[in-house]
Amino acid sequence: MPEPNRPPWRVSGDIADRSIGQLVDGGVGLVLDCESCPNIVTWTPAEIGRRLRRHADKSLGWIGPRLRCSRCNSEWVRISRAPTDVATSAAGPVIVRPQRPKA
Ligand SMILES: [Zn+2]
Repeated sequence: MPEPNRPPWRVSGDIADRSIGQLVDGGVGLVLDCESCPNIVTWTPAEIGRRLRRHADKSLGWIGPRLRCSRCNSEWVRISRAPTDVATSAAGPVIVRPQRPKA
């Protein structure tokens, strides 16, 4: 298990204070990385807008504690900025192999 003395969710990089609306407007995608199983999902800006439209004024710091892994229901989900070259799919979230976004 991950270390206990921190909240289970984690937002990496400079995006924690961004609102959902700012991410969508800025064309920023997200990688949601479960720390309890191999599940990693990439959300394109369009996907973020579709899923979180009602929360456009909320920050990722607000969203983080409310996320659960779609596979194992763990709350240990790490949020990071998607690489800009991530595949875009109109069909929905793209499952990608584990990779670390550039710092
Ligand atoms: Zn999981």
